[in-house]
Amino acid sequence: RFISFEGGEGAGKTTQIKRLAERLRGEGQDVVLTREPGGTPGAEAIRELLVTGETGRWNGRTEALLMNAARADHVARLILPALGEGKWVLCDRFGHSTLAYQGVARGMDLEELLALHNIATEGLWPAKTLLFDLPVRAGLARAGVRGGTEARFEGEALAFHEKVRAGFLALAKQDKCMTVIDAERDADAVAAHVWRVIEPMLRP
Ligand code: C5P
Ligand code: MG
Repeated sequence: RFISFEGGEGAGKTTQIKRLAERLRGEGQDVVLTREPGGTPGAEAIRELLVTGETGRWNGRTEALLMNAARADHVARLILPALGEGKWVLCDRFGHSTLAYQGVARGMDLEELLALHNIATEGLWPAKTLLFDLPVRAGLARAGVRGGTEARFEGEALAFHEKVRAGFLALAKQDKCMTVIDAERDADAVAAHVWRVIEPMLRP
């Protein structure tokens, strides 16, 4: 079973994905925890190109191609083999991030991005996508405290992150595989909500 964790900066995706992995392992499940961009040595090398250097180093089209080049390696070498072995794959960001960041926020056509995604992945989408939603300022404040916002993205304006948030919420409205999680609550409340959504997947 393939589950992705999506949302803007400081939404708590990385914390929650670790908590879900532990909980599933506690149920005796085999879990692979991974992230995008990255997840395999080749894809992590492409991530370095994406997250270092000055803001605006890549235009949206180049960024989308690099994201999908990384994704092709990640899907072929890690995600599909793990799913084939019956493991759970939990992924910190996946295709919806590309639609929200490079699509809605940077202005690439969504149909083109979907076509690119299908080339990169042979049409793989998660069985469930959890969207961690919170007000942009709250998320950026959290990410700032953590010091986790990477150099390449520091210059991005509030308006950009508002577009990302609106983009994710619009995707969630159309996609029945997406569940919106209110990520402004404390970590225990968020983890409990995540578990209510995922637990039924243990008994198909
Ligand atoms: O998930 P994480 O915060 O580590 O992502 C690294 C950076 O990559 C973030 O700042 C995010 O905004 C950016 N990103 C992006 N487009 C994507 C995926 C991530 O701009 N499709
Ligand atoms: Mg994170």
